[in-house]
Amino acid sequence: EEETVKLESFKSMGLTSPVLKALEDMGFEEPSPIQVKTIPLILQGHDIIGQAQTGTGKTAAFGVPIVELLDHRSKKVQALVMAPTRELAIQVSEEITKIGRHAGVKVVPIYGGQSYDRQIRALEHGAQVVIGTPGRVMDHIRRGTLKLDNVKVVVLDEADEMLDMGFIEDVEFILQNVPTERQTMLFSATVPDAISRLARKYLRHPEHVSISPERLTVPKIEQVYYEVREHEKLDGLSRILDMEGAERTIIFCRTKKRVDELAEGLQARGYSAEAIHGDLNQVQRNRVLKRFKEGVSEILVATDVAARGLDIDNVTHVINYDLSQDTETYVHRIGRTGRAGKSGTAITLVLPKEFRQLRQMEKLLHVRLQRRPLPTQEDVAE
Ligand code: ADP
Ligand code: MG
Repeated sequence: EEETVKLESFKSMGLTSPVLKALEDMGFEEPSPIQVKTIPLILQGHDIIGQAQTGTGKTAAFGVPIVELLDHRSKKVQALVMAPTRELAIQVSEEITKIGRHAGVKVVPIYGGQSYDRQIRALEHGAQVVIGTPGRVMDHIRRGTLKLDNVKVVVLDEADEMLDMGFIEDVEFILQNVPTERQTMLFSATVPDAISRLARKYLRHPEHVSISPERLTVPKIEQVYYEVREHEKLDGLSRILDMEGAERTIIFCRTKKRVDELAEGLQARGYSAEAIHGDLNQVQRNRVLKRFKEGVSEILVATDVAARGLDIDNVTHVINYDLSQDTETYVHRIGRTGRAGKSGTAITLVLPKEFRQLRQMEKLLHVRLQRRPLPTQEDVAE
């Protein structure tokens, strides 16, 4: 009997059954646009520059082919993924572990803030895929505790973020320490000059894959703004939260200090809010994230760095308590909601002096944020 295979299905890509099974377990019914474009190219051996916004499924776009390209008999490190933050490294590690589950793939994340001994033991137990932040990967190379002689696939995930965070030298050091006979993939939301330069230097005849701008905007996100003055922000925010019936909300502030102050202010008003930023140690950050993911806390107050790339499901609201410094950051922030086709609301508090910036942002994004009047106490009491 004839089997009908959809044109763009994981099956039609010729993936092995352990991987297909894993994708099914994960609830991935069909590949996202970036996955459709990149997975076959990577399987054919191409280097890739993949450009797509947050939330488009880049992790599986490289995770699936990595699992397929591994020599499952060898327990040596064959794939190295670099990610800008600890949280992202952990997240990528979790996703590749899931994709590789039925194939028995060994994935080890290595990042700063965790003991070297633990990581060394994990590496000694046989790591086929290593996911790490550049600084820590470099330290392990220098200590001789991470051997990359058998690496045949290298991925730079969120390459623009890694450069922004000052990791360029570490990244180059690492690229110079992996065999040149390899495949290199670079994924990035944006491709500024520095990324193009890096690609020219370290990629071989890369295929450029990008998801067109129209597909970048996440249509299901409702984008609104409220005009506020600084002294009204906290009360205004709490009324907005009540009006919106916000459940799982991430709120962004500009600085760590403002994150702490806002989290405290919200707690004092009876909200289950927690702060996350770079001053917390890894254990604390993981705990905060876990409580938010499990719904123990409803509101996560974050700096941009702490929230970078975090994949948290079912976030109903993203709130820009402070307007983001640039449009890209805005896109990154609101990408925390409306993930994988779910709906979400992005709310921005705008000070009178920030209007010009808001208009500029709207122009760049070809969107118009809906203006809403700040709810009054009466609105909320009803
Ligand atoms: P990006 O790296 O582009 O920001 P992620 O790889 O983190 O995006 O994916 C965003 C979310 O979408 C994750 O929760 C991921 O599990 C989910 N996802 C990715 N690909 C698919 C797919 N093909 N079907 C369903 N969900 C997917
Ligand atoms: Mg990603």
